[in-house]
Amino acid sequence: MKISRRNVLKGLATAGVAATAASLPVAADAREGYQVQADDVGMLFDSTLCVGCRACQTACKVRNKLVTDTRETQGGVYDAPLDLNGNTKNVIKIAQDGSATTYMKMQCMHCVDPACISVCMAGALHKVAGGITAYNAATCVGCRYCQIGCPFNVPKYEWQKSLPIAEDPKIVKCELCRHDQRGPACCEVCPRGAVIYGKRADLLKEAQRRVKASPGKYAEDRVYGEIDGGGTNVFYLSPADVSFKALGLPTLPREPLPALSENVQHTTYTLGIAPIALFTALTVVQLRNRGKGEQGHKEEK
Ligand code: SF4
Ligand code: SF4
Ligand code: SF4
Repeated sequence: MKISRRNVLKGLATAGVAATAASLPVAADAREGYQVQADDVGMLFDSTLCVGCRACQTACKVRNKLVTDTRETQGGVYDAPLDLNGNTKNVIKIAQDGSATTYMKMQCMHCVDPACISVCMAGALHKVAGGITAYNAATCVGCRYCQIGCPFNVPKYEWQKSLPIAEDPKIVKCELCRHDQRGPACCEVCPRGAVIYGKRADLLKEAQRRVKASPGKYAEDRVYGEIDGGGTNVFYLSPADVSFKALGLPTLPREPLPALSENVQHTTYTLGIAPIALFTALTVVQLRNRGKGEQGHKEEK
């Protein structure tokens, strides 16, 4: 049977949440993790080059037809998202580490083996060509497990469409502009080349070349995303005096997170425990991770 939003919702209504878990065995079965493919694409963001102009933020909104996130202050009105949200797939923030500051560009990391895909029981999040983590609103049931599962706090929900009358709200996140043959708008417009697009392998090589060419210039003399959480298709370079944690990038094990979450998931389904238990377990895992990150950051200072 073709999985559609209607079918998934019907299943939830008629059989109950626990029975739905049993009717979607694919999610409960352990699977082989995703691996890097030769044609995977991604982005490299070098924070030492970013000047915070936010051209990428605006270009992202235009190419993705996202409405402005307006804020009024001192008589002016600005499109000034404070974070990723239901109208914002890409945001530039200031990262502070002690007295040092730099700019941080945040969007989906297109993890090699994404936790969001692992926890999505409806298959709404999935990998497509190029290693892009894509979203299919037609099968999404709005459970928002992906928000809990993502270690980077990326997927956002269109809350603005859920109240007062539900208008079929969706999850919103960067899909590397895969709907447009021109590719990522953010990389196209950056006047500093602070964010560039290309094959994952080439971007990693370039990032490693920069680190090697300038010892002591970059945080930890390494590229974030090469191995973190099993690797990501978006890489980061941070100035030496601004840690990756200060940039907002969590400390993750080398092992992909789904290896952990799917163990929890597999056990809960096997025991016949409803997905609400999985939701709780993943919340605990994520909070513990974030707590460790904050603690680590305090210790570093
Ligand atoms: S950053 Fe989050 S939303 Fe993006 S692929 Fe990774 S787990 Fe999924
Ligand atoms: S790749 Fe596209 S959707 Fe993603 S941050 Fe860049 S402009 Fe936005
Ligand atoms: S367009 Fe480039 S320089 Fe400007 S904020 Fe974005 S990444 Fe930074």
